[in-house]
Amino acid sequence: METRQTAIGTKNDLFEKCIKFTAAHDVKAAGLYPYFNPIASEPGDEVIIDGRKLTMIGSNNYLGLVNDSRVKEAAADAARKYGSGCTGSRFLNGTLTLHIELEEKLARFFKRESALVYSTGFQTNLGTISCLVGKNDLLVIDRSDHASIVDGCRLSYGKIVKFAHNDMVDLERVLNNIVNNNGLRGGILIVVDGVFSMEGDIIKLPQLVEIAGKYNARVMVDDAHSVGILGDGGRGTAEHFGLIDQVDITMGTFSKSFASLGGFIVGDETVINYVKHFARELIFSASIPPSNVAAVLKALEIIQSEPERRENLWKNTHKMHYELRRLGYNIGQTETPIVPILIGEDMQTFAFWKGLFDNGVFANAIISPAVAPGNALIRTSYTATHTDLQLDHVLEVFERIGKKMGIIS
Ligand code: PMP
Repeated sequence: METRQTAIGTKNDLFEKCIKFTAAHDVKAAGLYPYFNPIASEPGDEVIIDGRKLTMIGSNNYLGLVNDSRVKEAAADAARKYGSGCTGSRFLNGTLTLHIELEEKLARFFKRESALVYSTGFQTNLGTISCLVGKNDLLVIDRSDHASIVDGCRLSYGKIVKFAHNDMVDLERVLNNIVNNNGLRGGILIVVDGVFSMEGDIIKLPQLVEIAGKYNARVMVDDAHSVGILGDGGRGTAEHFGLIDQVDITMGTFSKSFASLGGFIVGDETVINYVKHFARELIFSASIPPSNVAAVLKALEIIQSEPERRENLWKNTHKMHYELRRLGYNIGQTETPIVPILIGEDMQTFAFWKGLFDNGVFANAIISPAVAPGNALIRTSYTATHTDLQLDHVLEVFERIGKKMGIIS
């Protein structure tokens, strides 16, 4: 294929950085490239790649519902009844009765007045944060918050300050500094992950809401990795701590426990109504397709009727925490099914990833900017449907490869 050569090679060519970007090629040449692997099967606990079967410990399919026959049937039925897409935004021609049914059921499940459904979780954070936070307002975020929160803050006109990861003393220091020294003319929104997507630890919500109350700050919790997992009913971080009435906005995604694609917020009716009329990512983007909505509705039903899935997830989680620590791996502060294996160097992380991959285990190699430079890790995550046989195989590979590479002794 021909490319336009005009300015290539000259100093101010916009594409100069692309031409000079060789890191991915270098890692491929070394045979260690871990990204964009095409899976040729359902993305369940076992996947087929290049004709080989691998145990998947790199997905967010926490409740094991992506290949549940009831969820798949619901998605197929909805496609047959409503078609394959909505061809318009929620605001105009893209709202189906199914979207309204889902919003009503989400609000009821989360015990809040109202819900709003977006097409992805990423858009949910972008749209919600940027439309609520204006020029004189302050955003206070955890240093390890997800990229979609960071980008939502960047899109807003508010001032952004970060506090040290899950450090409530630092949160108070930051708030005190701004409010008492600089004087603040607008409002404050604190946004945090409920469960941090790389570290796997849980936000210290009881202390956070107490501090928020002192500074009259609103609180938004991204429960992408908590819904279906934390709390007696699977309602996420607020339920886990018994603080449902203390969180102003809970955000979630459908791309993990809900086995679909899309995102949502729940909160007070007045806030949801405002966001609905001002969030550009909602208004100017096509709505979530009917099959995706129907999959979520079915998953929501199963989350409520089959608590044993959550129990199994926690049984598998505790087993992996215990066994990986026993093998000598550093898994940080995780408290959840997200279990990072802390390595440090990028190339060593890629090599470890390749060792796992070649031995039938699919995990994720995570480097900067998803984590701080020098803190590369292998992100593993577990599901309700992993069997002991699968997990024992994973542990055997971790023991063998970790020893061979000198990561554990
Ligand atoms: N928030 C968090 C904490 C996430 O981990 C993710 C996805 N990885 C998102 C938001 C974005 O969700 P989605 O995949 O639905 O765009």
